[in-house]
Formats: sequence, C-alpha cells, structure tokens
Amino acid sequence: MEENYHPCPNCKAPLEQHSQKEWKCQFCTQTFTEEEILQDQQKRIEEEQQRQKRIKKDQSRKKICHCPECGAELITDIDTEVCSCIFCGNKIIEEKPLKESFEPWKVIPFRVSREQAVDSLRKMCRKKPFLPGCFKEKAHLESLTGVYVPFWLNDCYANTSVKARGEKSSTWKEGDCTYTKTDRYDLTREGALAYRLLPTDASAQLDDSMMDALEPFDYGDLQEFRSDYLKGFFAQKYDVTQEDCKERIQRRVEESAGEQIRSSCKDFENLDITSERIDLLKINSRHVMMPVWLLRTCYKEGCYLLMINGQTGKMVGDLPLCKGKVLAFTAILAVMLTLLGTIGGIWLC
Ligand SMILES: [Zn+2]
Ligand SMILES: [Zn+2]
Repeated sequence: MEENYHPCPNCKAPLEQHSQKEWKCQFCTQTFTEEEILQDQQKRIEEEQQRQKRIKKDQSRKKICHCPECGAELITDIDTEVCSCIFCGNKIIEEKPLKESFEPWKVIPFRVSREQAVDSLRKMCRKKPFLPGCFKEKAHLESLTGVYVPFWLNDCYANTSVKARGEKSSTWKEGDCTYTKTDRYDLTREGALAYRLLPTDASAQLDDSMMDALEPFDYGDLQEFRSDYLKGFFAQKYDVTQEDCKERIQRRVEESAGEQIRSSCKDFENLDITSERIDLLKINSRHVMMPVWLLRTCYKEGCYLLMINGQTGKMVGDLPLCKGKVLAFTAILAVMLTLLGTIGGIWLC
C-alpha cells in the first residue's frame, strides 16, 4: 500500500498521475491540475489547524478516569461524578486532568434520552418474568451510564481484476435431432472499488460480537465533536488502534471485492476462475464516537452487560436469570400438568 499519496480533492481516493500536468482519480473519474491539488492540500492544512485550536480551547474542561483493574480510560467533563468503572465495576478510579489531546473526528450524539432508555428497560422487564427482583429496581435501572464508544470508520480503495473461463450453451431441435451449441469465453473483469464508512469498534473492553449486534448506526447524523457532548456522559479512549483493525478490515474488503467481481461473471456456466487479484490501495480510518447506554448488573457470581444503541434504541446483551423463579415456575407447571392429568383421568373413566 502506498503511504505517500495525493488524496483526490473530491472523494479522497488515492490519485494517479495521468500526465505531466494532470492527475486522475480512477474512483470518481475526475481530473485535477497540480495547482488544484496544492490548493486542496493547503485548505486541509488550514482546516486541521482550526480544529486543533478549537480542541486546545476546551481541553481544560475535561478529565481522564483510569481503571487500574481493566485498563479502561474514560474521558468526561470535570463536573461529572465517577463512582466505579462501568466495564468491570472496580471502585478505585484514578482521576486526573486531561493533558493530551482528545480529538475524535466526529460523534453521533445521544438521540435516546436517559428517561427513554429506562422506560424501554422497564417494558423489557415486564416481558421477562425470570429476571431477579434486584434487576428491576428503579435505582438499578436508573444507574445506566451513557458512553461514547470509540469506533474507526474506514474508507477503503481497491483495484480488482479477475480472469476466468466460462461457457454459454443453447439447445434447439431440428426434426428428430437435438443440437447443443456451446460457446467458450475467456473473461477479464477489472474495476476500481471504493468502500465508504466501514465500521470497526476500537474498544478492547467491549465484546466485538455485541458491538456488531448493536449496529447499524445512521452515519448521516455524524456531528463535529464538541466538549459539550461530554456533560453527564463518558467517552472511552480507544485502545484498539487503526493498525490493530487493519487486518480485519482488509479481510472484509477482500472478501466483498472478490464476491462483487465474481458475481459480474455469473451469467456464464462452468465458471473457472484462473486468476484473481485484489490490491487494497489505501485505507483512510477516522476516529468517531458512537452513543451507547450501558447497564452493568452483578448478580450472584456473575456480571452481565446490557447495551442500548443511543441513537436507535436497539437493545443487546446478557440478562441475569433468577433460578428460584425458574424452579418455582417449573414446580407450578408440574403441579398443573399433574392436575390436568388427573382431571383427564377422571373424564376418561
Ligand atoms: Zn475522486
Ligand atoms: Zn475497569
């Protein structure tokens, strides 16, 4: 993958030098002069400088909370109280002013309020008779925490080419004879594919499959990150880097690009792929924050984490089960079945 590249001023894909004076984007097909590229570069530098100034200005209102038990680092407003670690429940939290910069590219703000989240938890409780009483308590349901979970949103650009052999047959009848004609083709397929906003979560504390189940998020609602969003909420510092996600995203793009290019040959029979090439040219990853309500429940020996998508209200996670209630229900059911059996027996007599 080429690291030193000029991004397309229109779509940010890597540009290719077309001629001495022109650069062409194979993804959006636009061409640019060297002057236009330099202007775009200058514009991006100025935008970044403005962003850095803004970040520095509201840095003083933030603190960082470190959990020595699970290693989680949460950033919040200095006025927000921290009682325990939302991931592991550890009560000793080290708090200090935020020195280093914390600059997510964008954030999806909470659209589901605390009241709405608690209300949907109550509704869910009504449908789950085996939940322990402590889970349903008002104070416990209201203890849920709003966390901005770190994600990488990845734009990927790949060149693909496939060579294959395929056949097309036609059959017809003439008198008593049936004829079959088979044409054999050598196929070549080439294309430049761009994938936009592929998400990978950047939190080591949260289970990947649970985070995947919490999707989708509507990226149309991405907003410029501001410190105001942290009042009463936490933002987790990412502990999975872009580099750590690279392999995962590369695999996803290669699988998808391979599928796409093969499906363009699906009209042919007896398809034999003789060569396939997928060159991932560039991954642009951007750090974003997604809103999630977290409810951690410790019951008997286990701890359970329930998550609510703070944008859509979708709920996923583990729930504790009260074995006493299950046993009582099973016993009542057994008695009822026995009684029904007896009544049935009486009727049959
Ligand atoms: Zn472009
Ligand atoms: Zn912890």
